[in-house]
Amino acid sequence: MIEIALYDTRSRRKAPFVPREADNVRLYVCGPTVYDFAHIGNLRPILVFDVLFRLLRSAYGEDAVTYVRNVTDVDDKINARAAERGISIRDLTEATLADFHADIEAVGCLPPTVEPRATDNIGEMKRLIEALVKRGHAYVADGHVLFSVGSFAGYGQLSKRSLDEMLAGARVDIAPYKRDAMDFVLWKPSAEGEPGWESPAGIAVPGRPGWHIECSAMAHRYLGEAFDIHGGGIDLAFPHHENERAQTCCAFGHDEMATVWMHNGFLQVEGRKMAKSEGNFITIREALSGADGDTLRLAMLMTQYRQPIDWTARRLDEARAMLRAWTGAQSAEGEPDAAVVAALADDLNTPLAIARLGEMARTSAPGLAASAALMGIDLGRVRAREERDEAQKAAGLSLDVDALLAERLAARAAKDFTRADAIRDQLAAEGIVLKDGKGPDGAPTTTWSFG
Ligand code: AMP
Ligand code: ZN
Repeated sequence: MIEIALYDTRSRRKAPFVPREADNVRLYVCGPTVYDFAHIGNLRPILVFDVLFRLLRSAYGEDAVTYVRNVTDVDDKINARAAERGISIRDLTEATLADFHADIEAVGCLPPTVEPRATDNIGEMKRLIEALVKRGHAYVADGHVLFSVGSFAGYGQLSKRSLDEMLAGARVDIAPYKRDAMDFVLWKPSAEGEPGWESPAGIAVPGRPGWHIECSAMAHRYLGEAFDIHGGGIDLAFPHHENERAQTCCAFGHDEMATVWMHNGFLQVEGRKMAKSEGNFITIREALSGADGDTLRLAMLMTQYRQPIDWTARRLDEARAMLRAWTGAQSAEGEPDAAVVAALADDLNTPLAIARLGEMARTSAPGLAASAALMGIDLGRVRAREERDEAQKAAGLSLDVDALLAERLAARAAKDFTRADAIRDQLAAEGIVLKDGKGPDGAPTTTWSFG
């Protein structure tokens, strides 16, 4: 049995991981809000928890791990973007989710066991809200339902903040209907034209859920009242996870929602915070036009997940060089290397695992491919890509086929079939034949060959 140790944000300690039930290990990770392309910062938790999912599956068995990653498809940013683009909310969320699936499949992510959508779980949210009101942890005011932060003594235990810090950090609006400035929204009224559902008991007008209750509801539905691991980026620790924890603990009368709370550090670009206003904002789609998925994955995993990452061109070059060294190594097939497994089991020490892979390549140790696969790096796939690139070079092709294919998938997702067909024709003129298919999670994929 692999002994796993994980760092828990709440206790501020790394401790041996002991699942509640060894044949049903349960992991929840907050997923994307689907209104625009995901960026490489968003990719970090997806990759980190993909590696954790793989590790748990190898430790406890493929069928013994349930990984739930939700999709937030009701949100004010979604409403605003759909209105801006003049399309329906449903069309926006569907197209954005399809793009997200295509992006993360390209970086080799396993689909989670369940990927619930908020809009399919409104009933569960309302049941939780009603339970919170009944137990005296929430109240109805002016068409809203608010969580009463003062009713939960454990509030602040996860993020370890003082009341003043929490007030500043949550950027709370001091709305007149709140009993206390810290109280947060569980449900709010919807105006005409906004998505709305029949409200919980006591409110006559239609409304919609707040963000935090979504995760509590979906985690409860698929993982139960309390489960093993809850993850996300460090910015979610407060207020989002603090609020999820308060809701779930109070609704079910437990003192903990998840045994381990895991948070990845932030990603910045070339030494600066990534932001549209800084002009250094990189979507996964853009990153994939300059590097293949395995290179992106390796570049991200070169840093341990709790540390900040500085995303640089040099990092990608290093990852490329490492992959070339690994595919060039004379390594016989074999079991995953014990030192690689031990490094990953030690709070996902991916840089140590990667260093060991380099050593294995240099010494022609067996099991290199199986060891790389633990981190989702498929050396067979990398080699095939290298060979194809060489064939492409040999054939004197000047086109960047991968970039054109990514653009074509994006065009198809956006229903821009004219552009998609133009790309197909451009490639056909070079003798390249495309084959469209579906990935393991149903997302569209395309492969190509010299017809
Ligand atoms: P959001 O769409 O902002 O809710 O973010 C989705 C996920 O990406 C959350 O787990 C965030 O913590 C994470 N995330 C957002 N920006 C970054 C970043 N720059 N670096 C690392 N993680 C991030
Ligand atoms: Zn969440």
